[in-house]
Amino acid sequence: MPSRPDNCLFCRLVAEGDHVHAADGFVAIRDINPIAETHILVLPERHVDTFRDIEAFPDEEAGRMLRFVADTASAAGLDDYKVLVNVGEGGGQTVFHLHWHVLGGRFDTGKLSRALELETT
Ligand code: AMP
Ligand code: ZN
Repeated sequence: MPSRPDNCLFCRLVAEGDHVHAADGFVAIRDINPIAETHILVLPERHVDTFRDIEAFPDEEAGRMLRFVADTASAAGLDDYKVLVNVGEGGGQTVFHLHWHVLGGRFDTGKLSRALELETT
């Protein structure tokens, strides 16, 4: 079931987490269980359950979010990297506050292949 903002882990981390980058209504934190040498999560401060609900962001805010993803990767020293969004339980989403995975450096290929599996197919 989607989390409500009052019991949402990522809403709590937006408010009191260790942010590696923050600007303009978005924050970036280190993933607690990294699947790559650099594994950062980008979170909008505003609670939206999932990427499926992207229309909750006005175009201007959605554009700023994408720029923030790129800025976060750049601030982490990454030139080449992957950006991943898991959408819905079948897509591997486990925390229902929209977030973008920024992945760079050496990968744990076992964890990566599990992360890329779609459970509904
Ligand atoms: P997803 O499976 O796409 O919903 O991604 C959720 C991510 O949140 C996973 O990669 C987890 O390792 C990560 N995660 C869970 N709890 C925490 C936490 N307390 N701090 C940082 N990352 C977390
Ligand atoms: Zn939230």
